[in-house]
Amino acid sequence: MDHGWTMASKQNPPRWIPNTLRLASHENARDKAVATGHLDPGSSILKTPAFATILLDSEKGRRCDHCFRKNAGLKKCTGCGSYWYCDAHCQAAQWQAHHKRLCKAFNSYTSSTAFQALQRHEKYDSILLSHVLAHITLLPDAYASEDMMYSVLLSLLPGPQHPSNTASDLPICPIRPPPPPDILRKIYARFGNNNFAIHSHLTSIGHGVFPIASRLFNHSCVPNAAAKYILSPTGSVTMDVVALRIIAPGEEICLPYLDPGLLQTREQILELSYGFKCDCVFCCFLRKIGPLPEIPEGEKELSSLEEQLTSFANISSISELKLPNPSIEKTPSVLHCLLRESYMTKLSETFSKASHEQKYDVALKSGITLLSLYLLVYPENYPQIGMHLLELAKTAWNATISASSDRFPQEMRRRVEVFLTLAFQVLTILGDEGDSDGPMEKITLLGGLLAAEA
Ligand SMILES: [Zn+2]
Ligand SMILES: [Zn+2]
Ligand SMILES: [Zn+2]
Repeated sequence: MDHGWTMASKQNPPRWIPNTLRLASHENARDKAVATGHLDPGSSILKTPAFATILLDSEKGRRCDHCFRKNAGLKKCTGCGSYWYCDAHCQAAQWQAHHKRLCKAFNSYTSSTAFQALQRHEKYDSILLSHVLAHITLLPDAYASEDMMYSVLLSLLPGPQHPSNTASDLPICPIRPPPPPDILRKIYARFGNNNFAIHSHLTSIGHGVFPIASRLFNHSCVPNAAAKYILSPTGSVTMDVVALRIIAPGEEICLPYLDPGLLQTREQILELSYGFKCDCVFCCFLRKIGPLPEIPEGEKELSSLEEQLTSFANISSISELKLPNPSIEKTPSVLHCLLRESYMTKLSETFSKASHEQKYDVALKSGITLLSLYLLVYPENYPQIGMHLLELAKTAWNATISASSDRFPQEMRRRVEVFLTLAFQVLTILGDEGDSDGPMEKITLLGGLLAAEA
């Protein structure tokens, strides 16, 4: 169904579009969200509350089902025993949002054969869909509601992969009044290509339906913005879309639908789950070079490639003032094999394991190679880069205070300072997100230790 939002935007922008944005026509997509004015890195582009959310199983009972904050003293819903809340306030808010329609039938639904037969991701979808539908029954005029977020949700494009019968087969928690089957199908068909993973410091904690963000932002593997999540005691999870770099008036604002580090599988995922082909500079480059070569098996050969990578990324020029920004299009062909996804995973494992086992020389070497790869693959100020710089700072710090490496204490201390300053510069763009014990606090802590040592 087309609600004619694009047409409306030409005269009178719909009220759900923030004044930082306007919709403009796009050659392939339905339209695009462009900046109405100049945006500095770190500017908030859109703040939008969730229409519905679900916690991951691993977070159940550790976080409040309503506000998603960690809490050691959560209280269980005495009705179903399956939802946990900080207090009466969070419980009442979720009761009004959807739980009063679900509480009674919830356990018989999740123990039913139909639900148990689902795969894990389908179970999440099934419960999240139940939250959405229960919420809709509570809107004035229920399924015919003119609620803003509900209308925007229905106006989203469906994913490419849902034959209508599959969607109707997804069991949901019995709800009164029952949803019309076409609405159920319609909403579920919009899940796979529109829902967001909610994260705290880059770790997924749940899934959420944010219709306005879905409606506004197209994908890029080299995005100029990123979404972060604000957890507050006063409400449900809020998404905040933040500019990662300077954005000029009229420039399109894009979010990454996938981790830009997925260099080999993203083309397929974007086509299967989202139904489009990405034409960003990175994807064009990857298509041009074709299948990535195998990584050499010899240790010496690989080590020489890694040196070439750090030198191409210009890591030796690193100063606390600026991170290098190597261009993927200029990557020497001999380094193409290092763009394999398995290489990044392995390097990251080597770094973590060596840091953990206090093998600091190995850790710093692999960590710096990984930093070079991140700088090549991730866009400017991408939070993964900042988080890794913080890990490097911690490793370098541990190396300075370990008895075995007091050879160049000054040089090493200087390294900690540089990594820490750069981590701060990158992470301060996205700013605080999720839980309060975040990387910014860790940077302050380590900065304090460093100052005390000096
Ligand atoms: Zn809460
Ligand atoms: Zn309950
Ligand atoms: Zn792309």
